Amino acid sequence: MRINLHTHTYRCHHASDVSDRLYIENAISAGFETLGFSEHIPCPFPDGHESSYRLYKRDIDEYFNTLRQLKEEYKNDINILVGFEVEYYPKYFNDMVNFVAPYKPEYFILGQHFTYNEEDGQYCAIKTDSYNCLKNYVDNALAGIETGKFTYLCHPDLINFTGDKKLYVDEMTRLCVGAKQHNLPLEFNFHGWRLHRHYPCSEFFKIAAQVGNDVVLGCDAHSPEAIITDDTESDALKLLGELGIKPLEIFPINYLCW
Ligand SMILES: [Zn+2]
Ligand SMILES: [Zn+2]
Repeated sequence: MRINLHTHTYRCHHASDVSDRLYIENAISAGFETLGFSEHIPCPFPDGHESSYRLYKRDIDEYFNTLRQLKEEYKNDINILVGFEVEYYPKYFNDMVNFVAPYKPEYFILGQHFTYNEEDGQYCAIKTDSYNCLKNYVDNALAGIETGKFTYLCHPDLINFTGDKKLYVDEMTRLCVGAKQHNLPLEFNFHGWRLHRHYPCSEFFKIAAQVGNDVVLGCDAHSPEAIITDDTESDALKLLGELGIKPLEIFPINYLCW
């Protein structure tokens, strides 16, 4: 791996409570050229509540100030980018983008954690046999891709569908074809892989191999240790290799224009 764009920090309240610097130092020792921080974007809900797993709105100044200082400090050793992992919520996407626009984040990765909006969708990792949940997940992921704002789709196989296999194959083929039409790579997610979660899912990557999608590796680091990817990477490359997929070592970053 030469690029990792999927890094969280203590500011999402579910990652290690350690300094950002440790992620950077590990990325340098692991030989990364680019390290992107992609905290969960704040969502300015109209009633003012905050999701517990996101960067709080009040922490956004500090997020950018700290990381941009570190970017400058480490500029001769590594390219640091500051972006966000963002859901496409039909109701709130524009509000989320407008909220962060003054800070000019460099990139977004699409992480579709809910099947619809946060309040009326289901959390994707919960098992479901509902076709509607599966379809909403794919519809909203595709709507996100169509905005043209994303560099790649994180954990595309996060939806934990336990229903009819043919429906899964049809809907995920639709997702993979849409991503391919927009040249948007799909992420093989190391966080799920390390924790033996239901994703990354070989059934999904079989479909991606058939469609011919570009695949990238993402640490989804919630601790600095997750930036050291040796074992995870060789396991992932083995599985993907068996499916005929060779992940991209470097890939274009869709820099946002503000
Ligand atoms: Zn995610
Ligand atoms: Zn993430």
